[in-house]
Amino acid sequence: MSLAAYADETAACTRCRLAQGRTQVVFGAGNPHADLMFVGEAPGFHEDKQGVPFVGQAGKVLAGLLEGIGLAREDVYIANTIKCRPPGNRDPQPDEIEACEPHLFRQIELIAPKLIATLGNHATKTLSGRPEGISRVHGQERLMTIGSLEVLLYPLYHPAAALYTPKMLEVLRTDFQRIPELIGRTFQPPEPEPLLVAAAPEPALQLGLF
Ligand code: URA
Repeated sequence: MSLAAYADETAACTRCRLAQGRTQVVFGAGNPHADLMFVGEAPGFHEDKQGVPFVGQAGKVLAGLLEGIGLAREDVYIANTIKCRPPGNRDPQPDEIEACEPHLFRQIELIAPKLIATLGNHATKTLSGRPEGISRVHGQERLMTIGSLEVLLYPLYHPAAALYTPKMLEVLRTDFQRIPELIGRTFQPPEPEPLLVAAAPEPALQLGLF
């Protein structure tokens, strides 16, 4: 199944109570074959209206951070832990996260990114399966198996944190700086075999070498 087909399937989701108050399901946006995927928390007011994640104030911070490492929104895939807006932008509740998990995991499997940057506590705890909060684990990558996929999980502060605490922007910028290296690390070609001086090389190889 393609990512677009799965997005269509989720558009009528009624797995949790958030189906009642939403304008629409905010499935995700960006490059469906991206090596880098961001997972935020939940759609807010503007995301719910437009059907696109991170289009409000936090999205501007995210776009600036991406620009700082030479990337644009279109280069990556952006999604949220839960796909529907909680009323009044309250925190997602555990049963809502649980209900939405199959969507997130399927989405990840279809995109098959090399690196997933989790933005904030909810995404980090959901995808790491561990209780440690973001202030403890931000900037520390961890190799994970998600379904049939080996993926590097990279927890980051939520960009909205930088709206209230300017120092957070510096921490985010510092953590973002490592993203290119981390993407490279996961699909670096294996080291070339050491060139052995063979006793009797193939004639064709000999031609190539000398
Ligand atoms: N915050 C999020 O976590 N996700 C959005 O899509 C917007 C703001």
